[in-house]
Amino acid sequence: MDAERLVRFGLRCVVRIGGLTVEPVYDGMGWEPAREFLDRPGDPDPWSCHPELHDERGNLDFTLGGFLVRTGERTILIDAGVGAVNSEKYRGGQFLESLRELGANPEDVTDVLFTHLHFDHVGWATQKGEIVFPNATHRVHAADWAYFIECADPNPGAWRKLSPLTDRLELFDADTTIATGVDTLHAPGHTPGSTIVVVSSDDQRMFVLGDVAHCTFELTDPTWEAVYDLDRTAARGVRERLAHQLTDQPDVIAGGHFSGLRFGRLVTVDQERRFAFL
Ligand SMILES: [Zn+2]
Repeated sequence: MDAERLVRFGLRCVVRIGGLTVEPVYDGMGWEPAREFLDRPGDPDPWSCHPELHDERGNLDFTLGGFLVRTGERTILIDAGVGAVNSEKYRGGQFLESLRELGANPEDVTDVLFTHLHFDHVGWATQKGEIVFPNATHRVHAADWAYFIECADPNPGAWRKLSPLTDRLELFDADTTIATGVDTLHAPGHTPGSTIVVVSSDDQRMFVLGDVAHCTFELTDPTWEAVYDLDRTAARGVRERLAHQLTDQPDVIAGGHFSGLRFGRLVTVDQERRFAFL
């Protein structure tokens, strides 16, 4: 079994949050040079102390995909993978097959909720100009739609991918309830409209972070900063507050690119904050 199949095999897990279920939907893998992706201000060579955080080629691996939330009445996708791409750095293509393996067809999806509008989260929103999830309402924070689409100089790739959604779009500009137990939390920094999705039921909660943190060690040590955070200071503030809030709490955490899209919790071990996978 190759590494991707292993990751995918590892994804066959479901987390129950009270009466709701959350499952990873695998699409593919991405690779970015660690030194060009994350740095630590004031530290001229932060990676020299942490060779274990990247592979032997100096790359960080990113799992690509999304999460499927089923409430009983609604079938909600949080993010839609990277799409049918095969480049040197990003390889997708398995999202719809993964979804079917979870027992859901594209027409079953009632809502697509984007944590933000970067290409690796909207890949399956449309294919060749056609909406992939024909019955879904597509939702995103208005600040991201304004930044990527409704501006004087829209991002061409985002425009091609997302403009067909216009008639199936609901923007939100304040924290809102998408469905019973599915709420949004505005967390600007990575992008202006970056959104954390909070899934809750029966005193249980999960925080789906999108790219508030790309790697788990950005939460265990929030002094790391991602080069692609549009407002690095705000993004770092969000991570610091979140890490403080969630450490040693029962809340489950999911990241948009954590290894294998696995879930975990922040815990203190030997006076150090760590991310413990479930
Ligand atoms: Zn991303």
